[in-house]
Amino acid sequence: MSTRPDQFSTGADPVASALAGLARAHGATLRVNLDPAYVVAADPAPTRRVALVSGGGSGHEPLHTGFVGRGGLDAAIPGQVFASPHNQQIFAGARAAARPGGVLLVVKNYTGDVINFGIAAERLRAEGIDVETVLVDDDLATENEAAETGRRGTGATVVVEKVLAAAADGGASLAELADLGRRVVAASRSLAVASRAHTAPGGTGPAFELPPGQLEYGVGIHGERAVSTVDRPGSAEVVDRMLEELLAHVPATATGYGVLVNGLGAVTGLELFSVLDHVVGRLGERGLTTAAALAGTYVAALDMRGFSLTLTALEPDWVAHLAAPTATPALPSAEPVGMAVPATATDATAGAGEVTGRAVADDPFLTALGRRVAAAKPELTRLDQVTGDGDFGDNLDGGTRTALASRVPGDEPQPGLRAAEQAFLDHVGGSSGPLFGLLFQNLRTGLSGGSGVEAVRAGLRSAAEAVQRVGGARPGDRTMADTLHAAVTSTGGPAELLRAAVDGAAATAGMLPRRGRASYLGERALGTPDPGAVGVAIVLAALVETLDPSAAVDLPERWS
Ligand code: ADP
Ligand code: MG
Repeated sequence: MSTRPDQFSTGADPVASALAGLARAHGATLRVNLDPAYVVAADPAPTRRVALVSGGGSGHEPLHTGFVGRGGLDAAIPGQVFASPHNQQIFAGARAAARPGGVLLVVKNYTGDVINFGIAAERLRAEGIDVETVLVDDDLATENEAAETGRRGTGATVVVEKVLAAAADGGASLAELADLGRRVVAASRSLAVASRAHTAPGGTGPAFELPPGQLEYGVGIHGERAVSTVDRPGSAEVVDRMLEELLAHVPATATGYGVLVNGLGAVTGLELFSVLDHVVGRLGERGLTTAAALAGTYVAALDMRGFSLTLTALEPDWVAHLAAPTATPALPSAEPVGMAVPATATDATAGAGEVTGRAVADDPFLTALGRRVAAAKPELTRLDQVTGDGDFGDNLDGGTRTALASRVPGDEPQPGLRAAEQAFLDHVGGSSGPLFGLLFQNLRTGLSGGSGVEAVRAGLRSAAEAVQRVGGARPGDRTMADTLHAAVTSTGGPAELLRAAVDGAAATAGMLPRRGRASYLGERALGTPDPGAVGVAIVLAALVETLDPSAAVDLPERWS
C-alpha cells in the first residue's frame, strides 16, 4: 500500500510506520511486533484469566491498536488500510497474548475478518488454546433479511470491547465473556451519516462524490456507500431520525441507554458533543434514561466527514464496566450519567448591562462612535482578514451597539464612555475587546478631571500603560498601542492629537507584527495597517468630534 500524495505518513508503509510511532509514544503500555504486525499489552492486569484480542483493517484508529493496554485489549491485529489482517498475523498475536483461560476474539462482521479470524481460531485450538469469538454486527443500515452477510460491525465495537475488558479484569471465564459479549452486541445498534467521503486509499480525491446539500445516510466505515443519499435536513433532524430508527430496533432497558457519538475522522469534538447533548436531551423528553454517554473519534473511516450514533440497552453491571478505568492510548471510560439534565449556572452579576439607570442611546460620543464604526466596519473586517482572522470589525461594531443599547448610573459624568467601558469589558471577545474596554475606562477616568485635550492625553497615557501591562505590546509592535503612543506623545490641540493618532495608525503598515495573531504572518503583514490601531484612531475621531466639533475630520475609507 503506497502513501497517497496528499497524506502525511512518513513511511513507505503507512501502517508499519504508524505502529512504530505508537510504540514510541506508548512503550510502557504496549509492545509492537512488526512482522507479522500485531500489538500486545505490555503489562496486562494479573487478575485477567482470558486474553481479549481484536483487530481488523487499519484506517479506523484509534480502533483497535489504541485500545491495547490495562483495562483494554490484550492484543490488536491491524491489517492494511480497510483490509482484514492475515490469519497468520492474528494467530501469532493471539498466541503471544493468550492466557491460561484462553482467548476471546472480538471480530467486526466483514467477510475478510470473519474468515481470517476464523482460521486463526482453528489454528489456536489446534495448539490447545481455548478460543471463543464474539461477532459485532450492530450496523442497522445493513439490516437485510435477504443478504447472508448480515449487518456490518461498526461503532458498537467500542462498547463491546470496553465492557468485556472490565469483565475480563474482574476474572470472568471465557464462556462468561463470550456470553457477555454477545449480549452487548444484541443490545446495540448503530447508524452513521456522512456529508463528505473519506479520501480513497491509494487515490487523491474523495472515495465517492456527494453533491453539496446531500447526506449519505447509513454509511459504512470503509466508504461503502449508504443505501440512500438524502437531501440534507438540519443537524437536529438528522439526529432525530437516526435516534428514532435505533430506538425501534434496540431493546427496552430498565438501567438506561449507553449513547456513543463517534466521529468518522473529520468531525470536530465540538460537533460530536453537541450531537450527544441533543441525543441525551431527546431521550430525556421521552422519559428514557441515559446511563452512560461518550462522544469522540474512536472508530474512524480515515478522514470521512460524518459520525455514527450507537445506542446500547444497558444491563446494570455494564454501567460500572463502562466506567472502569483504562490505561490504554485511547480506549475511553464512560462516566455514569444521572437522570437529571446537568445544571448550567448563570452568573447573576453578569447581566447584559445594568437594567436600571439612564439610557445612553443619544449620548453624543456614542452616537458619533456608532456612526463611524458602522461606516468603517467593512474596511476593519478586511484589514483583520488580511492580518488576522477577520472578526475585528464585528467586535468593535458589536461592542459599540451593546454600549448604545445599555444604561448607566444616573449620576455618571461620562455616560458614553462608561457605557462603552462596560460593554467592551464585559461582553466583547477577541484580543481587542477587553483592551478597548481598558481604553474607555482610562479615558473616562482622565476626563473626570476636565474636558480639555490634556485630560484626554492623561486618559490615553494611563490607557497605554494598562494595555501594555495586560498585553505586553510596546510601541513599534504593530498593535493598537501604536496609535495610543502617537496620540500621547503628540503636542497641540485636539486636531493635532487626532492627526497624530491617524498617522500613528497608518504607520503600523510599515511595522513587523510582534503581538497578537498578526505576529504569525511576519513580513506578509507589511503594507496593511493593524486593524486595532485603526480602531483606536476611530474612537479618538469620535471623541475629538464630541469635545470640539471644529476639529472633526473624515477618516480614510481605505487604509491600504
Ligand atoms: P483577535 O486577534 O483575537 O481576533 P481582534 O480581531 O478583536 O482579536 O483584535 C485584533 C487587534 O487586537 C489587533 O489588530 C491588535 O491591535 C490588538 N491586539 C492583539 N494583541 C494585542 C496585544 N498583545 N496588545 C495590544 N493589542 C493587541
Ligand atoms: Mg481578529
